[in-house]
Amino acid sequence: MTSFTLHGIPVSRGIAIGRAHLLAPAALDVQHYLIADDQVEAEVSRLQSAIAAVHAELQTIWNELPQDAPAELGAFIDVHALILSDPMISEMPLDIIRSRYYNAEWALVTQIEELSAQFEEIEDPYLRERRADIQQVGERVLKVLTGSANLLPKSDGSEGSASMIVVAHDISPADMLQFRNRAFNGFITDVGGQNSHTAIVARSLDIPATVGVSNASELIVQGDWLIIDGDAGVVVVDPTPVVLDQYREKQARQVRERKKLGKLKKTPSLTLDGTPITLLANIEFPDDCAHAMDAGAHGIGLFRSEFLFMGRTGHANKLPSEDEQFESYKRAVIAMKGRPVTIRTLDIGADKPLDFAEQTALNPALGLRAIRFCLSEPQMFLTQLRAILRASAFGPVKLLVPMLAHAFEIDQTLLMIGQAKAQLREEKIKFDPELPVGAMIEIPAAALTLPLFIKRMDFLSLGTNDLIQYTLAIDRVDHEVAHLYNPLHPAVLYLLSSTIAIAAKAGVPISVCGEMAGDTNMTRLLLGMGLREFSMHPSQLLSVKNEILNSDLTVLEPVTKKITRIFEPKAINEAVEKLRTL
Ligand code: PEP
Ligand code: MG
Repeated sequence: MTSFTLHGIPVSRGIAIGRAHLLAPAALDVQHYLIADDQVEAEVSRLQSAIAAVHAELQTIWNELPQDAPAELGAFIDVHALILSDPMISEMPLDIIRSRYYNAEWALVTQIEELSAQFEEIEDPYLRERRADIQQVGERVLKVLTGSANLLPKSDGSEGSASMIVVAHDISPADMLQFRNRAFNGFITDVGGQNSHTAIVARSLDIPATVGVSNASELIVQGDWLIIDGDAGVVVVDPTPVVLDQYREKQARQVRERKKLGKLKKTPSLTLDGTPITLLANIEFPDDCAHAMDAGAHGIGLFRSEFLFMGRTGHANKLPSEDEQFESYKRAVIAMKGRPVTIRTLDIGADKPLDFAEQTALNPALGLRAIRFCLSEPQMFLTQLRAILRASAFGPVKLLVPMLAHAFEIDQTLLMIGQAKAQLREEKIKFDPELPVGAMIEIPAAALTLPLFIKRMDFLSLGTNDLIQYTLAIDRVDHEVAHLYNPLHPAVLYLLSSTIAIAAKAGVPISVCGEMAGDTNMTRLLLGMGLREFSMHPSQLLSVKNEILNSDLTVLEPVTKKITRIFEPKAINEAVEKLRTL
């Protein structure tokens, strides 16, 4: 096989070298063929082995559930194991092979379709929903049969197990959850944008990744040797020994650089002129706090609480209970040992749908997302607010509200926080009565009407991922418009600099918690705009600190002011690049 190179969008830095592990989409268009009489028992035993393999996989997942996995994930796995053991899956397809001479995949699909049709007729919505479980179990078996099992082996520490690269058409943020403890060191998808939540999760896992690599999942074959250059967005398939050596060398150089950065962990985060800069971490789960502490973060600037609400397909309780949420938030607060934890209320919708909520919106990024969804589900929102408030009794907590644009949304939110506080007071449950409440500034309308927010909120956080998406009208998950996603667009720079300046003037603390905060190419620009608080993935923190330690605000500020007055893209790029040499 000859070597070839594919290009995509770089989303997570570093070099990964390993063998391709293809995640086929549910192979429902499986091969259909009739088998001969003397092949029947072999086909039956092929299906039986696949079912046994899925049993073993489910058991392994069960045994390895992370501590912070949603409490009912175990129950969900049990349901799948039960379905798998039921004669309708474990026996009926075998009968179809014996009686109709179908190949194993065809027999299984026939039975799943039959069952799905029967479940569709059921009136009880809970039972009707089990149809999805049956289909998922069927897909698992099918993937084993077709040799494209989605499940990844856990790392056994050997070199082989740790050098696998996942290749898929797409991976949902929820699916990424199952990869957290798995042995793989990079991923490639056909679709996706730089700041899709899947990309963000890849960055939080700190593994090289490239998305939007058109047709990667068709061009790459299971077991191919691959190199991902996560800095350049390049994928080399079946590299020659010379190319492999070059990338190994580059990889070793990066490891050495990281080691060097490791020495900065305890270095105070000060610019050359002595200005202290706060470095916070973005997390998805409480266990991520260990990484944040390890990187020397001053606190958590963004806890994306929605990840506690995702990956719950098949759970009896679709939403995490107040206690379940409280335990998660409290764990983060305790893990941060007195450093503040900013918990963002549920930002569900768009590319982070709830498993059970069918997305019918034509344009979900502009639909009932984040605070809009929460205000439309007051009971659910109140439950979360109570859980966050309860966690505030165990250490400093801040509450951050996503996607606000209207004064009445802020007012309703504050009213509900007041209501949650009143309930807890009545129930004599402790919480921090002074809990700071902040707003994400991530819709242009919010950035342009900042006085509304300053008047009502204790702090602000710029969500640059969405601010860019909504300012430039490009879907952040759509790879066809990914080339238009430009943090340096003059409109974006205007909104950022004016927001930071107005907040600073009003004395309201402001941070950036979008991906720009962790991009070392942007550090000096943001410092020059007056930003003093950055929140990013723990893995990016020391590179950003390194940039800060070498920055002089007295030099950066006047130059940045000039940059915000430039409109020509080429001139902006050159000026921002030059900032890095000052
Ligand atoms: C943002 O929009 O910049 C942000 C931090 O939130 P999210 O990426 O979760 O939408
Ligand atoms: Mg956002």
